[in-house]
Amino acid sequence: MVPKRFTELFASHEASVVPTLVGLSVGDTGRVLHEWVARAEANDGPPPEDPPRSFHASTTLNDRVEASGSFDAVGGAFLLKALQLAEAPDVPGDERRTAAERRADALVEISRFYIDYQPTNPARRRRPHLDIIVQADGSRPAWTVDTGALIPTVDVHQFFCDGAIRRVVTDGHSVILDMGTLTRVVTTTMWLALAMRDRHCRFPGCDRPAHWCEAHHVWAWEDGGPTRLDNLVLLCSRHHHVVHKPGWSLKLLIENNAEVIATSPEGPVYRSHPPP
Ligand SMILES: [Zn+2]
Ligand SMILES: [Zn+2]
Repeated sequence: MVPKRFTELFASHEASVVPTLVGLSVGDTGRVLHEWVARAEANDGPPPEDPPRSFHASTTLNDRVEASGSFDAVGGAFLLKALQLAEAPDVPGDERRTAAERRADALVEISRFYIDYQPTNPARRRRPHLDIIVQADGSRPAWTVDTGALIPTVDVHQFFCDGAIRRVVTDGHSVILDMGTLTRVVTTTMWLALAMRDRHCRFPGCDRPAHWCEAHHVWAWEDGGPTRLDNLVLLCSRHHHVVHKPGWSLKLLIENNAEVIATSPEGPVYRSHPPP
């Protein structure tokens, strides 16, 4: 009933206002409080306008992040344009998404893209940008140091493909025995060679340019697959996620002009060739 911005003021008036409410009906109490607010507003000027831009984002239950915001015309135009540019197309074999799902994927793409192209990172190839703890024997679920959230296996495998892996050996939870250096990474040179060969996402039907893409190990790195050009394929973040889902398989036929053959869980097979 009393607007939030007057809470403090009301607290200081409480001693004089509340006794006048004693014995009043609910309707009369409402009228008195309404009058009090009207006077407070008259003294305080009109209520503050909404800020030109506001955006709320917070972690909630189950490690989800809830976000909502409101933007002025210019900020909103930038946002909508960026979302439109970052939206990956739905291609055959890929499940259809609602407009809201496409926008959410686009916002994640924009965030990753922003982190990728930080000027303070000269190699611009430090991936991923989350520190994720994976139990070597797989006995516990992976989690991210950044927020403490548990990370689904499909995402862990995606990060294995194109992330820098560091080894930290611990005794139990807290005693660090050894910290290895980077043990595997797609080097900038290798990335460049891959981008030259594939030019864009190689998921059949997708043409997301290389700078939106990640390197995917066709033969999974954690299963012994080498980090070599003949085992890597360029995939946009969205399609990289798709091919790591159960039921999908991807083949790279180097001898056939680096043809990519994607098989979907339902069976259909899709093919793509690198651009000439
Ligand atoms: Zn991958
Ligand atoms: Zn793609």
